[in-house]
This record gives sequence, structure tokens and C-alpha cells, in this order.
Amino acid sequence: MNVPSTSHQHKIAFFSTQPYDKIFFNKHNNEFGFELDFFETQLNPQTVILIENADIVCVFVNDIVNESVIEQLAEKQVKIIALRCAGFNNVDLEAAKRNNIKVCRVPAYSPQAVAEHAMAMILTLNRKTHKAYNRVREQNFSLNGLLGFDLFGKTIGIIGTGNIGKAFAKIAIGFGCKVLAYDIVSNPEMEKDGVQFVTLEEVFRESDIISLHCPLNDQTKHVINANSIAMMKDSVMIINTSRGGLIETAAVIEGLKEGKIGYLGIDVYEQEEKLFFRDLSADIIQDDAIQRLMSFPNVLVTAHQAFFTNEALTQIALVTFNNIKSLVNLNDIGNKSALLV
Ligand code: NAD
Repeated sequence: MNVPSTSHQHKIAFFSTQPYDKIFFNKHNNEFGFELDFFETQLNPQTVILIENADIVCVFVNDIVNESVIEQLAEKQVKIIALRCAGFNNVDLEAAKRNNIKVCRVPAYSPQAVAEHAMAMILTLNRKTHKAYNRVREQNFSLNGLLGFDLFGKTIGIIGTGNIGKAFAKIAIGFGCKVLAYDIVSNPEMEKDGVQFVTLEEVFRESDIISLHCPLNDQTKHVINANSIAMMKDSVMIINTSRGGLIETAAVIEGLKEGKIGYLGIDVYEQEEKLFFRDLSADIIQDDAIQRLMSFPNVLVTAHQAFFTNEALTQIALVTFNNIKSLVNLNDIGNKSALLV
């Protein structure tokens, strides 16, 4: 890679930037001294043209980094694509390799942020604090319709016990829940803490609440489907803070209509890239499935905000800058899983 070795000479073009990205990256750039250029627009074949003399681009989950974009980036002398997220399904890594462009990411920033949001969704759906808030503001002090249940003693089933699933299990144990877990690798540490590793079917059959924390891949796509829903307890609560594609949307809508699913909390949605991270309040939403989901009183949708904490954004900025600094100085990136190409 032919880039000078001092960080202040390097310019990073950020795409899909929100006001909070600017705040956190500007704040932490004091320690690094890069030149920063922020674009609100998504990176795609039409917007590469905006890049002026930047040798690094920084992208997020919905930027398009396909072969055509990568070839244009190479023509513009871009040497590094820095993802400020963990997932990299939107980047053509082979094309990056062919064009001699390095690609790095932030593999894990704050597992607690996502785990705590999963618990927030459970508590909201159960104790209906969102409804109570509005009700009291209308001077309606009635409790009718707000009945919840004790979490203490309930069975929570976790699918995927990596960084986030593990953090979530600790929270659930703290609430006095029985915790079942399914993962392709079991975790003896967690077993010591009282988590029981069981089959996927046992998680479906025995859990009062099921929380998804595995990645989306060929094995896990639509793990929540008509068959698995049929195995679940009546009135089960399903929480997804992982990836939208883990849930077959039509099947959960059916389960909700039948009353089989008692509660659904989703921070991710299969078609989210057309909706999330923007204000569409004046638009006519064309996605009928999300509109149907949002119409159920026992469904809570948040727009991919589980990661959105001060600590996580701080980590994202620091790790992204450190990755870039290592690459421009031709040093090893400390965490091997951060370097993709
Ligand atoms: P991780 O890699 O630490 O853990 C994933 C776990 O899933 C691993 O233990 C792995 O063995 C397990 N797994 C893999 N295949 C499986 C299968 N077929 N069945 C069951 N388990 C399987 O990842 P993480 O950091 O804990 O993140 C988990 C998920 O959360 C990721 O998919 C990530 O995209 C998502 N996420 C969401 C947000 C958000 O804001 N909503 C933020 C960060 C991460």
C-alpha cells in the first residue's frame, strides 16, 4: 500500500453520516489528526464522485460497496475502506483485493449496549411502560390493560451465545430467570453461571421468552418460521436485536394474529434498508408487512438502535481510527478479525 506514514496527511470521506457520527468522530479525531469529510448521502456508484482527494472511505451498514464502486474508488486512489460496523455483507471483498484496497471493520464494540436494549424491549412489552407514559399524560390513571408478569422464575431461551448473547444471559440471570441456550458451540463458563445448553427445539418448546443473538447465515435464515413457532409455548415473547432475516415476517404476522405469539420486539427487520435511519414521517410507506407489524398492540419496533449508546459510539470511533492508523502506518491491526482484506 502506497500511503504516507503520518496520519495528519490522510483524508477520510465518511458516507451515510448522521449528526451523531460527526460528533463522535470529530471528538475522537483530536488524538489522530486525520482530515475528515462528511457526506450525508449513501456511498453508491453515483456518489463516489463526491470524494475529493481522500485516500480512505468510511462506510456503514447500508452503503453500497460493490465492484463498480470499488473500481471507481481505486481510480480515485482510495486505499482503505473502513467499516464503522461489524457486518460486512455490503462489501465485495474480492473486488477490494483485486484493486489493492484494504478493508477493515469494528468486530465488537459494546455487547452490553445490544444486550441491555434486548432487556429494555422485554420490559417495555411486558410492563407496557410506553402505554403508561402516554396514558398518565392524558390524566388517565387507570391500570386496566397494563397487566404484566414477573420475569423472576420465567424461562428465557437464547439463540447464539457470543459476545451479546453472553451479556444478555447475565442480565437474565440477574432477573432470576431460568436461562436456556442454543449455540453451535457450548460455553462452559456460562454453564458455571447457571445457563443450560439445550437443543434448538428445546429452546423453542420450553421458553417463555426467546431472544435471538446469532448471526444471519444460511443456517440461521428464518430460524423463526411457521414450524418453529408451532413448537413454542402459547403467548411466547420473541425478541430480535440481531438481524431481520432470522425471522420469517409472514410467519410471525400469522402467529400474532392467532395469538400464538403474545409479544414481539424487533430492532431489526428483513427489509430495513429501505426504512431505517431516516425520517419518513411524511411519506407513504410501501412496505405492507412492517405496517401490519406496527399495527399490533403487542409488537414493539425500534429502528436498529440497540447499538446506540455513548459507549458504543465511542468505541466505534476509536477502533475505526485505530484500524486506519495501523493500516496507513503499515502496522498490524491489533485485533485480527478487524482486517477483512
Ligand atoms: P458473536 O460472533 O460474538 O456471536 C455470535 C454467536 O452465534 C457465536 O457464539 C456463534 O457460535 C453463534 N452461532 C453461529 N451460528 C449459529 C447457529 N447456526 N445457531 C446458533 N448459534 C450460532 O456476535 P455478537 O457480537 O454477539 O453479535 C450477534 C449478532 O448481533 C450479530 O448478528 C450482529 O449482527 C447483531 N448485532 C446487532 C446490533 C444492533 O444494533 N441491533 C448491533 C451489533 C450486533
